[in-house]
Amino acid sequence: MEIKAQRGRCIGSGMCVHAAPGLFDHDEDGRVQLVTERDSPVDIDAVREAVALCPSRALSLSEHRAPDEVRKRIDLIAG
Ligand code: SF4
Repeated sequence: MEIKAQRGRCIGSGMCVHAAPGLFDHDEDGRVQLVTERDSPVDIDAVREAVALCPSRALSLSEHRAPDEVRKRIDLIAG
């Protein structure tokens, strides 16, 4: 799966941080940042919830494989 966070669209609501605190956090500007290292396990349900709750649609999730085939890629898009 691939998680993308478009920081330029983030309004700092914190919904993603609440939904998946092990994956999302705020930086010093209050915008989303991804805190999990690439290829570390993630809670797919928490990620889905975070994407669904984001009010500015800054987050996206592409699931190329079944959730139990844990292979993921995390991208952070600045701007
Ligand atoms: S839920 Fe969306 S708008 Fe809110 S902090 Fe996370 S990425 Fe930013």
